[in-house]
Formats: sequence, structure tokens, C-alpha cells
Amino acid sequence: MNLILLGPPGAGKGTQSARIVTVYNLVQISTGDILRAEVKSSTELGKIAKSLMDDGKLVPDNLIIDMISGHIEKEAGSSGFILDGFPRTEEQAKALDVMLLEKNLKIDYVIKLEVDEKALIERVVGRFSCGDCGQGYHDKFAPTKLTNICDVCGSKNLVRRADDNVESMTARLVAYREQTEPILPYYEKKGALTIVNGMKTPEEVFEQIEVVMS
Ligand code: ADP
Ligand code: ADP
Ligand code: ZN
Repeated sequence: MNLILLGPPGAGKGTQSARIVTVYNLVQISTGDILRAEVKSSTELGKIAKSLMDDGKLVPDNLIIDMISGHIEKEAGSSGFILDGFPRTEEQAKALDVMLLEKNLKIDYVIKLEVDEKALIERVVGRFSCGDCGQGYHDKFAPTKLTNICDVCGSKNLVRRADDNVESMTARLVAYREQTEPILPYYEKKGALTIVNGMKTPEEVFEQIEVVMS
């Protein structure tokens, strides 16, 4: 089973992906995570991506498409994948269709998480994660049980993303509205799109996703 999780920054794509991965035994392919790893290792792609990401702008389509192709290829024999943060433009959506056709794969569900803009900003500004095991947290909505210690692995290495500030988030919301939202009708026409209310608790959002996938 393969799915696309769509939604603005902070909608809960990463949070829900983590749950889906565990319950459905799928692999998460997050273009944001892949890009952050490229930035960290200072690769050629990472050097180009860094300033764009800090400014809340999208990385050029051709770079993203080249980057993701191998990741999808690798999952061809697995039980399936979740695309988190891809596609984000019409060109990426079309390139994805070509890739899937070539690899004899298909997308079973496209799920869009819908969240109010005000809530998105609050979610993103309060977001942090464990730098060692990747567990996601939120200052208000999902704090660690013990102050500054990861619940899962005990690490004190809790990190925040460079772009999780109001300025960058404002630009990311513009990019989402102008470049990503226009691809929704593309999936709607294919009859693949389901809208899920992302304003509920993470558990309730997950329950809605389970209904879609059943
Ligand atoms: P969020 O979780 O807030 O939605 P991501 O982690 O998916 O953000 O992405 C962070 C940044 O990485 C984006 O603002 C953009 O600069 C870049 N990026 C991620 N995925 C893509 C993509 N598919 N196309 C272009 N840029 C991307
Ligand atoms: P995305 O991957 O779409 O950018 P995340 O899953 O990283 O979004 O969620 C953004 C922030 O909001 C995180 O700090 C997360 O803990 C928190 N969060 C996620 N889902 C919910 C929810 N349903 N209610 C409240 N906070 C949430
Ligand atoms: Zn941890």
C-alpha cells in the first residue's frame, strides 16, 4: 500500500506518518528529512537547499525529482511507502506519475490534513524533536514527560528546526498556497483524494486515517 500525505507545514504529516509506519508497516519517505540530512552532510544538494529552506522557499523541482526517484525505487519490493512532503508542485506530481508508471507502482490513497492557519503557526513555532531518535514533540501539545529529556531514548539532545520561526513559516504558507494547493484538484479528478480534519487530537486524526485506509 502506497500513500501520499498532503497538507501545509505543521498539519501533522510527520506525526501521522510515524503512527502509520508502525501500524501498517510502511516506510516513510520525507523529502524534508532527506533534505535536512543533505544539509547536515554539506553535500552539493544540501548547499543549494539550505538557504532556500531557511527562507521558506521550495527547492527546485528538478533537484527534488532526482533526489526522490532512488528512494521510491528502493521501496518497489517493500510493503509500501508514505510520501510525506512530496509532491509539492504540479511538476512534481506529474514526475511522480511517470516514476510510478516506470516502476509499475501506484498510489492507493492521497490524504490531505486540513488545519486552520492560526493553529499551524502555533504548532510549528512550538515544534522540537529528539536529535538522536527523531521522536517529535511540541512545547504545549506534546511535551516531554521529564523536562529536556527524550521520553523514548533518554537523550538530552532535543533540537529545533532552523525554519520553524514565524518569518520562515509565513513564507512556507505562501509557498503552500501558491504552489502546493493547486495540485489538490489533480488528485481529486483521479478520485484519489480524501480530506481529513487535522484539528483533532493526533489519536483522533489517526482514527480518521485508519477509516480511509480500511
Ligand atoms: P513541513 O514539515 O513544515 O511541511 P518539510 O520538512 O516537509 O516541512 O520541508 C522543509 C523544507 O524543505 C521546505 O520548506 C522546502 O524548502 C524543502 N522541501 C521539502 N520537500 C520539498 C519538495 N517536495 N519540494 C521542494 N522543496 C521541498
Ligand atoms: P508536519 O510534518 O505536517 O509539518 P508535524 O507532524 O511535525 O507536522 O506537527 C507539527 C507540530 O504540531 C509538532 O510539534 C507536533 O507535535 C504537533 N502536532 C501534530 N499533530 C497535532 C495535533 N493533532 N494536535 C496538536 N498538535 C499536533
Ligand atoms: Zn530520543
